Amino acid sequence: MATLGIPRLSLAWLGPQTGAQRLRASQSLLAVVVYTAFALVQYAEVRAGLVDATASMLLTAFYMTGALGFHLVIRSGLNQRLSDDPSLTLPQMVLGVLAATGSYAITGPARGAVMSLMVMILVFGMFALRPRQARRLAVFACALLGATMVWKGWTEPARYPPEVEAVHLLFAVITLAAVATLTSRMAGLRQRLHQQKRELEHALEQIRLLARQDELTGLSNRRHMVELMAIEKARQRRTGQPLSVALLDIDWFKRINDTYGHGGGDLALKTFAQLTRDSLREVDVMGRWGGEEFLVILPDTTATEAAACVERMRGRLASLSADAIAPGLRVTFSGGVAELMPIEEVEAGVERADRAMYRAKVQGRNCTVVDGEGEGGVDAAAAEGAVDHVA
Ligand code: GH3
Ligand code: MG
Ligand code: MG
Repeated sequence: MATLGIPRLSLAWLGPQTGAQRLRASQSLLAVVVYTAFALVQYAEVRAGLVDATASMLLTAFYMTGALGFHLVIRSGLNQRLSDDPSLTLPQMVLGVLAATGSYAITGPARGAVMSLMVMILVFGMFALRPRQARRLAVFACALLGATMVWKGWTEPARYPPEVEAVHLLFAVITLAAVATLTSRMAGLRQRLHQQKRELEHALEQIRLLARQDELTGLSNRRHMVELMAIEKARQRRTGQPLSVALLDIDWFKRINDTYGHGGGDLALKTFAQLTRDSLREVDVMGRWGGEEFLVILPDTTATEAAACVERMRGRLASLSADAIAPGLRVTFSGGVAELMPIEEVEAGVERADRAMYRAKVQGRNCTVVDGEGEGGVDAAAAEGAVDHVA
């Protein structure tokens, strides 16, 4: 197809490379095209009798070999081993300076135009060189051009009158110094932009994290849990696997707050989150649903299995001490479990888990109730207040 022809052609020219490497290949190819155009102009100058044919041939062979060489090195991927400058910007620009100076040396009366080439080469550097590189390149270009002017003024004063060369040299120094200064500033700007981009990326990552995470416990927040449940629900629809949710509410939490202060309550929430989360499988997700309520999503899990999992959490919580918060403190929770029906919306499932959790509270707390399993708790545990020593 005609529309596919162009991408195919560019693929053939630039190889199967992608990203930065492809850009480098296309830029070095552009250089080859520009050098070819110069070669044609130079050939016209030879035909017009302005330039010596042998000198022109040698110079053309030099820069065409160089340009094609850079292109091939980039196409082959060899340049990527030079991690410092895989674009080969500086060497490519040195080739440009050498070619322009060579052209100046052989072009005779029409050499004024060659000076503009030198400026063009340095302007390219504005977008890639570091400030120090740009300055060094400008000095190198001035020195090389200056030496050529002195040499030509000395050996061919009729074609290269010394006073004209002196004027050319002054112009070259002023122009190249100005371009080098601009390049330095541009490089500084680029550096600042890079820095700002990095800071923005970091800030964005923080914002993304904060949007998903509960600040106090480090668990997923309610918004993220809603998203995750929608994903799990969609998976359940596809695979037909069971999906359960469990709602855990810390017992008598107000008393913890009242006794140990809000700071103690916060610490209790953090500790609770850490201890219980560790007894979950990789695929289960626990999040903070609100205040002292936590939601657990259990994919591929029936209600009975989910209740067993919640009991495991209870066991772990009971076996570990919460002494870090206060000596002798026991933190317990009441749990409600619901297995989502295939046609049921997530919200309805969570509501059933919530109702089951309230039944667990009514039954005396520190136990788990599975929705739809009558009024019996899975583990009719301590009927007394879980932190009754505080009460
Ligand atoms: P129950 O066993 O019936 O659940 O009793 P409870 O005291 O845990 O329940 P209630 O819902 O009456 O109290 C919950 C308390 O949790 C009220 C609120 O001040 C406290 N709380 C909510 N969020 C936070 C929080 O981020 N930090 C602290 N320290 N306390 C919180
Ligand atoms: Mg509550
Ligand atoms: Mg509570």
